[in-house]
Amino acid sequence: MAFEGLAERLQGSMKKIKGKGKVTEQDVKDMMREVRLALLEADVNFKVVKQFIKDVKERAVGQEVMDSLTPGQQVIKVVNEELTELMGGEQSRLNTAQKPPTVVMMVGLQGAGKTTTTGKLALHLRKKHNRKPLMAAADIYRPAAIKQLETLGKQLDMPVFSMGDQVSPVEIAEKAVAEAKEEHHDYVLIDTAGRLHVDDDLMGELDQIKAAVKPDEVLLVVDSMTGQDAVNVAESFNERLGITGIVMTKLDGDTRGGAAISVKAVTGKPIKFAGMGEKSDALEPFHPERMASRILG
Ligand code: GDP
Repeated sequence: MAFEGLAERLQGSMKKIKGKGKVTEQDVKDMMREVRLALLEADVNFKVVKQFIKDVKERAVGQEVMDSLTPGQQVIKVVNEELTELMGGEQSRLNTAQKPPTVVMMVGLQGAGKTTTTGKLALHLRKKHNRKPLMAAADIYRPAAIKQLETLGKQLDMPVFSMGDQVSPVEIAEKAVAEAKEEHHDYVLIDTAGRLHVDDDLMGELDQIKAAVKPDEVLLVVDSMTGQDAVNVAESFNERLGITGIVMTKLDGDTRGGAAISVKAVTGKPIKFAGMGEKSDALEPFHPERMASRILG
């Protein structure tokens, strides 16, 4: 389950303070030392942990709590609010085009879950928002990527635009958008090629697609199980391509959750969705507040 290990640690650290009617500065310091260790063990970015602890301490040891000798619950509330803020505060929704179709470019490294997420997002848009998405197969390099998207399309009864693997991804993306306009689709989800690592060829190609179709949304798909690597990947994609949001996949198997907690603070870009399983309906809009409550119990 997502965040299970971290949740257990944090809830353990906060237990001592929870029922206390009066909380001393030392109580807060002791608790925060444990919270700091728990976050670091969960692979939360070091700088992010440092800032987080500072922010909580300032509020919890400062006027807000100590002057009025507020009960332990108040301290926990501060931790909850700061954790929510760290993960982005308000829920971040998908950007939409003023005039349909909304163009969404799906980008990410191989294996992160890009193709699966493209299908999940299409299904989410149809089921929850009554939209009519078109999926476009622009990953011409990974053997079977086009087939994978076509198969997904059949399973979900969702249209897929493809031109095989002998046409440039830029042309596929442009034609897909044109088709979406013609057929009155309100979303086009373009599944682009991934690589094993961030490299210049990949970024160059994605840049060309971006320039050609001017997406409303560039969604980076990253694997939360890879911890700080996922955060580094997000930083690279954001610096070199410019992203508008993040999908954090495989959160269902990530007991640590360090990437989900740090990526917004490090990149400035919000997590918009979380992948919670392999099935096509296992995609959830990312709610920082609910996530914080899940972690803190
Ligand atoms: P791509 O190379 O980025 O297009 O990756 P795929 O979409 O082919 O996904 C790679 C693997 O990750 C597949 O086995 C997916 O079923 C799996 N996967 C994707 N998202 C999730 C998720 O949220 N949870 C879990 N448990 N598995 C996922």
